[in-house]
Amino acid sequence: MVDHLNRFHSAAKGSLPVDIRVKILGAGPTGTLLALALARLGNSVTLCDPLTVEELPARSRAYALTHSSRRLLQSLDLWASLIPHLAPFTRLRLDDQELNRHTYFEVDDLSSQNQLHGAVGWILDHRPLMELLIDRLQTSPKVLLNLGRFDDHHLDGHDLVVAADGPRSLTRQAWGINTWNHPYQNGCLTAKVLLRGADPLMAYELFRAEGPLAVLPMGGEVFQMVWSGPLRRCQERAGLSPSCFLDHLAAVLPDGLQPDVLLDRPAAFPLQLAFAFRLQRGRGVLVGESGHRCHPVGGQGLNLCWRDVSTLMNLVKNVDEGKLPVEKLPQVYARKRIFDLVLVGLFTDLIVRFFSSRNILLLMVRLPLMFLLARLSLLRQLLLKAMTDGPITVIRLLPE
Ligand SMILES: Cc1cc2nc3c(=O)[nH]c(=O)nc-3n(C[C@H](O)[C@H](O)[C@H](O)COP(=O)(O)OP(=O)(O)OC[C@H]3O[C@@H](n4cnc5c(N)ncnc54)[C@H](O)[C@@H]3O)c2cc1C
Repeated sequence: MVDHLNRFHSAAKGSLPVDIRVKILGAGPTGTLLALALARLGNSVTLCDPLTVEELPARSRAYALTHSSRRLLQSLDLWASLIPHLAPFTRLRLDDQELNRHTYFEVDDLSSQNQLHGAVGWILDHRPLMELLIDRLQTSPKVLLNLGRFDDHHLDGHDLVVAADGPRSLTRQAWGINTWNHPYQNGCLTAKVLLRGADPLMAYELFRAEGPLAVLPMGGEVFQMVWSGPLRRCQERAGLSPSCFLDHLAAVLPDGLQPDVLLDRPAAFPLQLAFAFRLQRGRGVLVGESGHRCHPVGGQGLNLCWRDVSTLMNLVKNVDEGKLPVEKLPQVYARKRIFDLVLVGLFTDLIVRFFSSRNILLLMVRLPLMFLLARLSLLRQLLLKAMTDGPITVIRLLPE
């Protein structure tokens, strides 16, 4: 303890660089990116996961990345290495299938700094992302990888312990932090499909009465479906033969889009809106889905997790520079993250309720809204800014 305080006092006087000892439990996309970010700042990081190096990249999943994630990856020198694996989309088509109205969000609707990057967003497969992150971690002298076995969640011997162990976080439970959960009646099905007739530079968010269906370009004619609907129906669809599944999908896609080949096994999973009652306990903090979960509409999930990483990285920088005592970091982190998390959670919930309904009153509000969205670029700009940079940036000038 005395040694611990001496290190920070000497550092605060400028005689030593601070080397914060961090333990991260969970090597999903959030934990691995955080480990890399903190090690690059010169801190000693231990990263633990029960999965092995071979198992970690093995999920069949693709993520929609927004500009907030692009900025973080650029600041960590990862963006250039990911470019060959990124599928950019320059248009996002939003369809209200009940009203038979649609509108497009385009690069011109982005803020001027984001426009320079020539895409509304990017789709990235889990495997190349995790392979790159693990490769960088393995060559970092500041990182100790403790993979393939369970580690304990105790706070001893570390200045900061991070729970990044996902929605069913055992660490969160061991720290006695409860969550508020709102399980959706809807679930979600993901599948990769070869789609004929689709623009490879266009992503689709199709609002249907049973829930939203996102069609995300992954390069060429390959597209990832993120298809929400009643959980039972999602599970039944996941169990269909490939040809039956493609027939069901063809029936709900807009005219001109023809699903040809199913490229992986569809997976159905339940959806929920969840927040941990607190994001810190003592020297421990929750990041990523151990602290929050939201509906996948608008592809917000992983981007929100990575904004946790950005905030924590900036606070650790402040500790390294002697501007923030390390003991205060967990509380400041929790305070700084709360608005973004609550706003995105409520915003995605509102969008799903508003667009996944045949209620006549809601239809009467949606009709003029779709009309205005198609005509008012200011409205599209505000919505896109909230989705791509985070809702807080709508009221604050965006830092590049
Ligand atoms: C089935 C499914 C499909 C999804 N599909 C999509 C999609 O198509 N697109 C999209 O953008 N998002 C998708 N998501 C959401 C997305 O996967 C999450 O936003 C993202 O994975 C969150 O990352 P994370 O690192 O916080 O948590 P996770 O990815 O859940 O990672 C948690 C890590 O912690 C490890 N762990 C567990 N217990 C412990 C422990 N006790 N100690 C140490 N480590 C532990 C796990 O092995 C895992 O590696 C999907 C989620 C699910 C569940």
